[in-house]
Amino acid sequence: DIPIDEDQKSTRLLYKQPSVLVGRTDVVAVTPWLAPIVWEGTFDPVLVDNIYKPMNLTIATTVFAIGKYVRFLQDFLETAEEHFMVGFHVRYYVFTDRPHDVPSVNLSQGRHLSVIQVPGSNRWQEISARRMEIIQTTIERQIRREADYIFCLDVDSKFHARWGSESLGRLVAVIHPGYYEQTRDRFPYERRPASTAYIPMDEGDYYYGGAMIGGFVEDVYTLTKVCRTRFEEDAGNSIEAAWQEESHLNRYLLYNKPSKVLSPEYLWQDFKAKTKEVKVIRFSGVIKNYAEVRPN
Ligand code: UDP
Ligand code: MN
Repeated sequence: DIPIDEDQKSTRLLYKQPSVLVGRTDVVAVTPWLAPIVWEGTFDPVLVDNIYKPMNLTIATTVFAIGKYVRFLQDFLETAEEHFMVGFHVRYYVFTDRPHDVPSVNLSQGRHLSVIQVPGSNRWQEISARRMEIIQTTIERQIRREADYIFCLDVDSKFHARWGSESLGRLVAVIHPGYYEQTRDRFPYERRPASTAYIPMDEGDYYYGGAMIGGFVEDVYTLTKVCRTRFEEDAGNSIEAAWQEESHLNRYLLYNKPSKVLSPEYLWQDFKAKTKEVKVIRFSGVIKNYAEVRPN
């Protein structure tokens, strides 16, 4: 009999042999600057978890629930507990003007939630825009000391399937589900040169969704700081970009390329039928009655 090396046996990791020739051919899985575009079937979840789990990482997750948007927190948090970064340390930062309406959700071991009170607003555009500023100042005050990576997510959303360590990277953006089949001149970028978010018709890579920004805490810090400054500069000139912080995000990412891009699997919209290249919807925006949930 061959003696079994118990130590080696316990550290052996078996997985399917990677192929150089066979993989997904229906989608592009790498950008022209060689960042991965994460699609189902392009990564082995067991293998990537095995790389990241020993690093003992903490993932910060910011979510804003201002005014009536507190109603989305329960489903957001419950589904995150089921699917988001399972097995990792997660710290949720919930920003709200209604701390008493934050539901109590059972969190798994190693997961924490803090509620941070912020002012409400009568303009949804301002709520959406001020997220950059609040994320920036909260990174300065605490997140920088408490986490390695950060994901900033829209609250009017639910997780449906794994969102795991395959999404980790230095600067991570998600392709908006509404525009990935369009040419760049059809993207709803800010088109007025007077705005600091301006992108000319013949520039642009993808249209990124503002419902998710992620990466190393320091890289996201710089992004939020730059976007906030430009938003305020525009405001000083009485201009508001077409899609507020999403426009500034797109402009930032055009000149500061993300190191990892998440496919629309990571940001779907419930009103949109699944397309054939999307094998799994991981996270999606719920259908909401804008007139009823927004302050104006
Ligand atoms: N938000 C909020 N209260 C509001 C409006 C917006 O808390 O009254 C936050 C919330 O986190 C939301 C995000 O800002 O997910 C973006 O706004 P919204 O989801 O309405 O934009 P959409 O996804 O519809 O473009
Ligand atoms: Mn949303």
